[in-house]
Amino acid sequence: MAAGDFANPASQLFSQGTGLTYTGAEQTTGQPLTLTKTARRQAEGIADSFAVAPPAVAAAISPADFSDQLWQMLHTPPDEWPSGDLPTVLAAWGYPVQKLFNQNTLDLTTRQYIREHYHHICQYCGRYGNSVDHMDPVSVSADNTIANLTLACSECNQLKGDMPYADFIRIDAATAPLKADLRRLEQAANAFQGRVTALQSQLAALTHQAADPLAPGAAALRRRIKVAQDLLDQSKADSKHISDLRSAYVHSRWAVAQYQEETDQW
Ligand SMILES: [Zn+2]
Repeated sequence: MAAGDFANPASQLFSQGTGLTYTGAEQTTGQPLTLTKTARRQAEGIADSFAVAPPAVAAAISPADFSDQLWQMLHTPPDEWPSGDLPTVLAAWGYPVQKLFNQNTLDLTTRQYIREHYHHICQYCGRYGNSVDHMDPVSVSADNTIANLTLACSECNQLKGDMPYADFIRIDAATAPLKADLRRLEQAANAFQGRVTALQSQLAALTHQAADPLAPGAAALRRRIKVAQDLLDQSKADSKHISDLRSAYVHSRWAVAQYQEETDQW
């Protein structure tokens, strides 16, 4: 039985693991397994889901273990087949499904709801945000309810990391002046970016119309683009500098807080 006989990786994996030949182009070896059409479809559905499961699932269950389990299930079919729903099947096999699937897995609707609810504004710093954030991180509580979700920019999301919400808010409160600077610089950068884009379009239109890259006015436009681009670069560099300050402050305060918590227990 060659791997190439199979229509997709999932059925290939399934067939290799189980040694079955009921799927694939040619039946060459192994004993055919008699399955009802429904059971076969469900088994394939489960194998397909396994092939695209979150990394946590692949880390917890090897393809060989998965195939073994599925093999056993096919030979002692349950009274009622699970509906090809992988979490249900894995739960029936005794895997910690809650841990494998619920950590940090939010559906698209929830993410979109949170983004729109907060108008794409990071709730920690006030800049543009697109990351749905667990206020208390999944390492602290696997709480996926709306009440534990907020919106963050990628920078705040990363800065907060695995810090409990209350600790992060308390420590980060002292960086308010830095965050005000960051908001101002973000606005400036957006304005400079808009300016660069507009001037570049003007330059393109001008040189295209004149069919001459050195058309009158082009040099002046290029100088203005250079000025706007320099200002844009400067505001980004300033932002980076202030972000680094904020990050250093939060990390060092968090290290101190953890140290104090440890020494309190001595
Ligand atoms: Zn932020």
